[in-house]
Amino acid sequence: MAAKIIDGKAIAAEVREELVKELAELKAAGANPGIATLMVGDDFGAGMYRGAVEKFCGEMGLGYRNETLPADATEEQVVAVVKSLNEDPAVSGILPLRPFPPQVSDSAVINTIDVGKDVDCFHPFNMGKLTLGEPTYPPATPSACLELLERYLKSEGKDVTAELEGAEICVVGHSNIVGKPMALLVLNRNATTTVSHVFTSNRGNLAKHTSAADILVVAVGVPHLIGPDQVKEGAIVLDVGINRVIVCPECGTLNRSKKNPCKKCGADLSEAQQKTVGDVDFEAVSAKASAITPVPGGVGSVTNMMLARNTLRAARAQLKK
Ligand code: NAP
Repeated sequence: MAAKIIDGKAIAAEVREELVKELAELKAAGANPGIATLMVGDDFGAGMYRGAVEKFCGEMGLGYRNETLPADATEEQVVAVVKSLNEDPAVSGILPLRPFPPQVSDSAVINTIDVGKDVDCFHPFNMGKLTLGEPTYPPATPSACLELLERYLKSEGKDVTAELEGAEICVVGHSNIVGKPMALLVLNRNATTTVSHVFTSNRGNLAKHTSAADILVVAVGVPHLIGPDQVKEGAIVLDVGINRVIVCPECGTLNRSKKNPCKKCGADLSEAQQKTVGDVDFEAVSAKASAITPVPGGVGSVTNMMLARNTLRAARAQLKK
């Protein structure tokens, strides 16, 4: 079987078109939706994400405010900035970009965000609502997975509710920002939900769970952790992982760094190509799954649109106040 590719870029473009129309309606009604990012220090990944948010805000006509504090900022200074973002009517949604430096605790920042502007569902209040099955702002990455799944199933002429109810869905990874909320989102849709993580792997039980899944969601950060032996024939596979790897020119093994020789064959990697891959071995798993998201061009493409959608929801709610 050759899996159908769930095209994240095409689905992101569809969602964007819908959101641009909604944004025009909101602006006509007097709202001015915008996102603020909050960064402390100069973490590379956080900086890349910040740039991506600024770019899509500019492209869609959403407002954007950048708050970047120096790495030695105190917790009080960071909290004061969050309070100013809470008060700013041009900021509908606030996105804290972690990691923060050690003197700034995540919870001090997150607990200060106005729950009505918490568009990536970090605040315990919004996580609580998600747990109760009443999410106001479901977190962007798990929402992107669900959006891809729903649109794929609809494109196949399937009834989404019927497909999810009772389906065996295995989520690999239990981080607070991806795995755990993903499990809650599908549990809320009445899927039979299994969450596996590093301790599952350590007991040698990962394949037992992943290969029983009708729908497999992998959010781990380990390149090609999941191969065909861990996937059920005909499963739908959503790969959240984004891993920069060095491909050995001699044996094709994925390595983490150019500085060391290839971990398998010892070849010199100093001139080797860098590549972005997922947590799933896309080529090999494609031969067994019925549908799969690629990396890049899968979940990551839709994540920003989910953030934009939540921001519009927040702006609409703020308009009513
Ligand atoms: P994280 O906080 O590092 O969490 C990784 C999870 O994977 C943890 O629950 C960990 O379990 C589990 N894990 C690690 N090694 C494992 C193994 N060998 N077997 C089974 N489980 C294992 O990462 P994250 O923030 O959730 O992100 C996960 C991946 O998604 C990363 O590659 C990240 O870059 C990517 N990501 C993509 C998007 C997107 O929009 N596409 C957004 C966010 C993140 P323990 O906690 O028990 O160690």
